[in-house]
Amino acid sequence: MAYTLSPWSLTDLYPGLNAPELEAAFTELETQVASFEKLRPQLKADMPVSSFMEVLQDSEEMTKLASKLYSFAGLAFAANTQDQAIQALLGRIQQFMAEMENRALFFSLWWKDLADASAARLMDASGDYRYYLEEMRHFKPHTLSEPEEKVVNLKNVTGVSALTTLYDAITNRYVFTLQVDGQKKELTRGQLSIYIRGADPDLRAKAYQEMYRVYSADGTILGQMYQTNTRDWRNENLMLRHFSTPIAARNLGNDIPDEAVEALLKVCQKNTGTFQRYFRLKAKQLNMPRLRRYDIYAPLAKSAKTYEFDQAVGMVLDSFTSFHPDFGKLAKRVFDANHLDSEVRKGKQDGAFCASVTPEITPYVKVNYQGKADDVATMAHELGHAIHAMLASHHTVFTFHSSLPLAETASTFGEMMLVDRLLAGEKDESVRRDMLFRQVDDAYATIMRQAYFALFEQKAHEMVAQNASVDEISAAYMENLQSQFGDSLELSDEFKWEWVSIPHIYHTPFYVYAYAFGQLLVFSLYQQYKAEGEAFKPRYVKILSAGGSQAPASILAEAGIDIRSEAFWQGGFDVIGGLVDELEKM
Ligand SMILES: [Zn+2]
Repeated sequence: MAYTLSPWSLTDLYPGLNAPELEAAFTELETQVASFEKLRPQLKADMPVSSFMEVLQDSEEMTKLASKLYSFAGLAFAANTQDQAIQALLGRIQQFMAEMENRALFFSLWWKDLADASAARLMDASGDYRYYLEEMRHFKPHTLSEPEEKVVNLKNVTGVSALTTLYDAITNRYVFTLQVDGQKKELTRGQLSIYIRGADPDLRAKAYQEMYRVYSADGTILGQMYQTNTRDWRNENLMLRHFSTPIAARNLGNDIPDEAVEALLKVCQKNTGTFQRYFRLKAKQLNMPRLRRYDIYAPLAKSAKTYEFDQAVGMVLDSFTSFHPDFGKLAKRVFDANHLDSEVRKGKQDGAFCASVTPEITPYVKVNYQGKADDVATMAHELGHAIHAMLASHHTVFTFHSSLPLAETASTFGEMMLVDRLLAGEKDESVRRDMLFRQVDDAYATIMRQAYFALFEQKAHEMVAQNASVDEISAAYMENLQSQFGDSLELSDEFKWEWVSIPHIYHTPFYVYAYAFGQLLVFSLYQQYKAEGEAFKPRYVKILSAGGSQAPASILAEAGIDIRSEAFWQGGFDVIGGLVDELEKM
């Protein structure tokens, strides 16, 4: 049977928008929450282990049902963003879930407040729930009293959350004007970025200049928002919650030791030369004496090779199967269950994702397949996520999702296997070269660029505490870029405003290093795989099967990886160095 482009079917969740089963699920969840509330008096330090386990099981059932309901609306919306009935359902579910969560909140507050000895007694008997329970308690030393926490929550709504919403509101309405083929175009940032990554060098430069012209016009006010944001972060996390550094608050959320993040960022700084070498090579390919900052994502593509969907599915499944038969079978399950939405449709959301709803349900995958080598790689990436979730499906709903720093392991690894396979079967040198260049472009964007954002954030948080002005922060940003690029490319002055255009550093301070962490980890693992072949596979399967049932550092330690060691991170850079070597030889 040939695979054809198609939408997915959500009937494994609910039969349809107007199905009685869907309505019944709301009632069922409300009933579950009401009986959960009745358990509150049983929560005591000396409660029997068996009653504690019942509380956890009830909580798990509620979480599964909530996830099913929420996923149904979310997936339906992704498949059709223009349908008013779906929009209404999504709104109804968001409101309903917030109410249900508030009613069940008492459990986590009680749990964090419990004395260590009592918590240890209950955790020892909690089996696979253990890490979930442990992780909640990590925040105990940084948790305030209940009334204080309530005040923080309430004031956040109109304080720092309102400020970031305002940042979004201001920046999302920016209009960028660009002369294209003698015509004046008014563009959103998304539309502008097509020219930033486009083939025309003049337009790339003009698009960047226009972007920072618009941002810098508001530079003082956006910078002031950032200053306020970092002050709030410091006030809350250092003064009130007693974290030692601004980044430590994020590290605890990721459950990554501070020393591991330090080692990662240090190794990134040591390896700036690798990408600088790459930028010089890219300049040659583009026939430029020196690359400009405008050109780092310039496409080289000379080839316009496409793959039929059926052929692409065959390649992706083969690639997984030849690594491990189970991987192929699990990936095929997504197709057999009709859980893949592959076609491009009007109203369907752009991009790609994988959604794992509960451990029992085969994950859903969305792509917008258009036949390019990139699209085949994206399909392998998302199916990698699905395989990861299915390998961990013996865990609870709380522990089967891997934590953020490990979340991109199976996906990126799957993508690399596929690219290797495409390269091996490709005789056309120009197609091969395009693919390798794209791999290094992506590695730059996810590793070095993100690591340097994190280094900038560390610096900026300290500077704001010392009352630095917006211009002083911009100057520090420029120094950050200079140490990253050296003299490998030409950096023009408007890039000093780049930092006010990065939503991540406003929304989720220090989030960005997780990208560098995940990508370098996969490069290191991939290098181990190439060196060891079969012997590597059981170790890798074990990492994936752990899901989110242990701290990332312990999951990786069991596979012989020490994330505190600089040598480990260096291994990832050695792979990138190898790719650049290969390109230099071509
Ligand atoms: Zn991914």
